[in-house]
Amino acid sequence: MATFVYFFGDGKADGHAGMKPILGGKGAGLHEMTNLGIPVPPGFTISAEVCRFREESDGGERYPEALEAEVDAALARLERLRGKRLGDPRDPLLVSVRSGAAASMPGMMDTVLNLGLNDRSVLGLAERAGGNRRFAFDAYRRFISMFASIVSGVRRELFEDALTEKKRARGARSDADLAGEDLAALVEDFKAIFAREAGEPFPQEPRSQLWRAIGAVFESWNNDRALRYRREKRLTGLLGTAVNVQSMVFGNLGDRSATGVGFTRDPATGEDRFYGEFLVNAQGEDVVAGIRTPLPIARMEEALPDAYRRLLAVKDRLERHFRDVQDMEFTVEEGELFLLQTRTGQRSGLAALRIATDMVDEGLIDAETAVLRVEPSHLDQLLFAVFDPAAKQRAVAGEKRLVAKGLAAGPGAACGAIAFTARDAEARAREGVRVILVRNETSPEDIGGMVAAQGILTSTGGLTSHAAVVGRGMGKCCVVGCGAIRIDHERREMSVKGRTFAEGAAISIDGTTGEVIEGELPTSPSEIVRVLVKGTLAAKAAPVYRRFERLMAWADAARRLKVRANADTPEDARAAVAFGAQGIGLTRTEHMFFGPDRLPVVRAMIVARDEEARRKALARLEPMQREDFIAIFRAMGSRPVTIRLLDPPLHEFLPHEPEQVEALARDLGITRAELEKKVASLHEFNPMLGHRGCRLGITYPEIYEMQVRAIARAACAVGREGIEIRPEIMIPLVAVDRELKLLRKRTSDEVDRVFDDEGLCVPTLIGTMIEIPRACMTADAIAREADFFSFGTNDLTQCTYGFSRDDAGTFLPSYEDLQLIERDPFATLDQEGVGGLVRTAVEKGRAANPKLKIGICGEHGGDAPSVRFFHAVGLDYVSCSPYRLPVARLAAAQAALEERGKKVQAAS
Ligand code: PEP
Ligand code: MG
Repeated sequence: MATFVYFFGDGKADGHAGMKPILGGKGAGLHEMTNLGIPVPPGFTISAEVCRFREESDGGERYPEALEAEVDAALARLERLRGKRLGDPRDPLLVSVRSGAAASMPGMMDTVLNLGLNDRSVLGLAERAGGNRRFAFDAYRRFISMFASIVSGVRRELFEDALTEKKRARGARSDADLAGEDLAALVEDFKAIFAREAGEPFPQEPRSQLWRAIGAVFESWNNDRALRYRREKRLTGLLGTAVNVQSMVFGNLGDRSATGVGFTRDPATGEDRFYGEFLVNAQGEDVVAGIRTPLPIARMEEALPDAYRRLLAVKDRLERHFRDVQDMEFTVEEGELFLLQTRTGQRSGLAALRIATDMVDEGLIDAETAVLRVEPSHLDQLLFAVFDPAAKQRAVAGEKRLVAKGLAAGPGAACGAIAFTARDAEARAREGVRVILVRNETSPEDIGGMVAAQGILTSTGGLTSHAAVVGRGMGKCCVVGCGAIRIDHERREMSVKGRTFAEGAAISIDGTTGEVIEGELPTSPSEIVRVLVKGTLAAKAAPVYRRFERLMAWADAARRLKVRANADTPEDARAAVAFGAQGIGLTRTEHMFFGPDRLPVVRAMIVARDEEARRKALARLEPMQREDFIAIFRAMGSRPVTIRLLDPPLHEFLPHEPEQVEALARDLGITRAELEKKVASLHEFNPMLGHRGCRLGITYPEIYEMQVRAIARAACAVGREGIEIRPEIMIPLVAVDRELKLLRKRTSDEVDRVFDDEGLCVPTLIGTMIEIPRACMTADAIAREADFFSFGTNDLTQCTYGFSRDDAGTFLPSYEDLQLIERDPFATLDQEGVGGLVRTAVEKGRAANPKLKIGICGEHGGDAPSVRFFHAVGLDYVSCSPYRLPVARLAAAQAALEERGKKVQAAS
């Protein structure tokens, strides 16, 4: 039994579909199809373990000792089966040498076709093909150019130029117009190019050709394209590529031959119809390379009726067998059909949803498998507006309108006229213009403009910067940290790599990829959002929405982790309920302070000369806060609502522009100098590590007192309406148990005072955020003072790494490129470091207080891999922005199903 080489052919294969890690996707598919009796040209697969062995060997070029003998044995078996020998001058066996890793990496690695040809065997091939010299020399020239570029690194264009030159000299319009003798002459030209560039004659010995091609294909695992692709797709933990050596079949032997690709269902819409393309008299690379325009697959019925009928049967067989959509490659050689590949078909979000629900209805898979089949990123595509894919492709590839790339902070697609200030954005939006708000970074003062804009673009800031957090919360398309942008406020324009965009110029931003594109692109809105949030579409007219609801119901039945939303306003709360929130995990009360009616009062409170003046301002704020809380409690009914007391540093609320300082001084009846002195006194070197969170509550007790009173009064008001509300008061940024002890006492005293006064008691929990490493390490002491913990993983990540969450975007992309970190830790939780602290805090907290409820409300609550981690460490819930809830529900269900050992229903 061979250890590195797996044979397939003649209805039997050594491998099967479950061996993807070592046979690669392509190899595993070929073995499985062979075992199913589907016609596959025979061959053998060299295990991906050899790729790993080679990489780790001295010089990166050695093979395991047994390999040569195993390849020899497999080759001899292949030769016997085909009745041909590699390099036989009378009737040569030709093979392809193809890459194929466990995860699909389309077009990233290399392939050599027609291997085994040389100056003598090309004549035998012509003879065997009924004297068809054209076919044989065409195959030979393709082989020389592929071998040259892939094995010897000769530039492909040199061969393309020689071909063009030959066509010009012969007055030929396409390759097909070249005669056999032209191609024979071209072969001589190609060999001369090879000899000149590679410094050796073109190798004539087929076994040497074979080993050199195998080496080059293994090497292509680490070419730049492949490395970049794996990094972008976050493909880690793979052994390497396998190598498939397979006997060639030819789709270019005349009009009874063809080659093509097909999907068992439509990969764009999911519709159950055969989808694909083919070309008569062509080799596979012609379809992929777009040299000739292929025909729709249905046309094959007239062109090659028998082969088409067989192809339909194979398609149905493969889909039933794998219980999933297959993406197939086939060749018809003189009327005979061969399958060259089958793999799971990549699909759009729309298609993923439709295929999963249809296959449940067809009895092919169960509901739990359907939940595992849809990827969280698929849901993103369904919830946000998207660009028309063809229009975007044209704009980016053809018209070169891609101007820059930033961090993809809030998925979706948006376009509109550039506005550089929130005020302008609001004004233009009022005139009915769609705008993109472009800022260096946003601050709470920009909220109005952010609401009015279609999308937000910033030049600095990371994935938990203000623009990202608030934009995402609003379901806005948002690109942040786009460092190539330089805004010149004076001239009202921005420049990006030498291009200038004036205020009002049209741009498009893709919040799913971070791309910034010049001009407007057509977009289509999400059907689900139109039904659920906007109410502009009836459910019965929305098939996508109905499938989405079914999938979500299956996910909800499978998950253990609860999901809550981060919601600051009654509108957010209503959207949260529509998206399935089981409560609110975070209401950031400061976001209520930015309304035009509130900001002046908040500012008066902050710059107050003494406690009395501060209390006066707070007394004006209290009814406003109470009304906000009443509206949120009503929207959430009997679901728990966690309200966080004031957290950010106070200076964030103060004006910084001269006119605004002047206006505030006038409002407050103080001099401008006095105000400036106060603003300066609030300045901090590290505001995020400064006088904020519970430190504010400790030093200005009257602020938290007012907020707690507003919460308790609101609870009584709504409680009297007969709704069993469940308020939870949360204290931010606790580092020391005594901070919480003090604030808990003050909070519960205030709550009790209100309840005594109202003659009503609404059960109210008091808990804390865990967002400082010290709090994690002393979580047992803190848990004794808390009814609940909620991890603030934004601050916890910031404090654990010592990376500023507001501008780590300036260096994190380089860190990712250099593979110093795998992912931006503000987007996906760092499980080892920050996750280790979370784990410790959960263990210590639960040990000290078994009744402790534990959740997380940082941005990671809506990130699928992070949600899986939170499931694994046993949290009770995750909380994220309303628009991320479907992703959180799906990821929580997938984590629970995988924990139970649920495997996707498939052939393997
Ligand atoms: C956090 O730090 O994770 C958190 C949720 O709080 P904020 O983002 O408001 O600091
Ligand atoms: Mg925080």
